[in-house]
Amino acid sequence: AKVQGPGQIRFCTPQASQSMLEQIRLQHELFLAVKQQQFSLAYQPQLITCGAYQGQVMSMEVLLRWQHPELGFISPARFIPLAEETRLIIELGHWVLKTSCHQVRQWQLEHQLDNLRVAVNISSVQFVREDFVQQVADILEETGLPASCLELEITESVAMEQAEQVSLKLNELKRMGIWLALDDFGTGFSSLKYLKIFPFDILKIDKSFVDGIPHDQQDTRLVEAMIHLAQGQNMQVVAEGVETEEQIKHLSQGGCDLIQGYYFSRPLPPQQTLEFLLEHQLA
Ligand code: C2E
Ligand code: CA
Ligand code: CA
Ligand code: CA
Repeated sequence: AKVQGPGQIRFCTPQASQSMLEQIRLQHELFLAVKQQQFSLAYQPQLITCGAYQGQVMSMEVLLRWQHPELGFISPARFIPLAEETRLIIELGHWVLKTSCHQVRQWQLEHQLDNLRVAVNISSVQFVREDFVQQVADILEETGLPASCLELEITESVAMEQAEQVSLKLNELKRMGIWLALDDFGTGFSSLKYLKIFPFDILKIDKSFVDGIPHDQQDTRLVEAMIHLAQGQNMQVVAEGVETEEQIKHLSQGGCDLIQGYYFSRPLPPQQTLEFLLEHQLA
């Protein structure tokens, strides 16, 4: 239950207020977690679907992990919204960006993985900050990661009302050489408009559509249509949440460029990521 204003608390059912207490506790724990460094990063590879480089890792999505000493593993689907409400996501997101850029730069240097790319999720709370572009530029300079090896994943939650501002920022990032991905495509309300007005390079098809391949005819057709749409706009297509061989077959035949999902790999801690990378090295 979300509290819209103070007056609404009294309408809460016992269950709702219980979960509200939980939310408040979790928010508190989140603040402590930042101080006590309970976060880590996991990397999930995105593999090339066809052509000469089939089966090699092109890019990796970095995903935040929170291991609480008592509560155990807490899913980002639960804590990211809280971090956004409290604006803690600004600090946390900055840490994710900096740490992952540094990590990937180290891998590049130590293992000649020069073209390896990292995809970082950016919350709209982070993105709309006035200094966001400068922050990204600073991190690239500090870590030495080439801009062409960084991809930013942005969802439709970035406010459409500020389309002009958003557009300016995206174009600035693009001019720097950074890749821009539209995340969770198809799950929002204005997906097509986003494609039309913003300069995205990559389209990420949401797992909720991929799940339906091949059994759900509507999902299967929608995914095909999304791939066509992206190709028409000269965008790369990444499918997320791919778990079966059948899905891979459909997606690669349909023209999807990159595959991310448990079929190839779960998100992995850094050491295991490196091992995976060395086994699926991009020449
Ligand atoms: P997302 O951006 O859609 O990320 C993909 C999610 O799908 C990840 O969940 C990933 O572990 C999961 N996934 C990938 N392949 C499969 C598969 O084959 N099967 C299944 N069942 N799941 C798969 P995760 O790591 O729990 O993250 C959930 C969401 O939390 C992400 O969704 C993203 O919106 C958010 N998130 C995670 N890390 C960050 C971060 O550093 N910053 C921000 N702003 N958001 C983050
Ligand atoms: Ca993502
Ligand atoms: Ca996604
Ligand atoms: Ca998703």
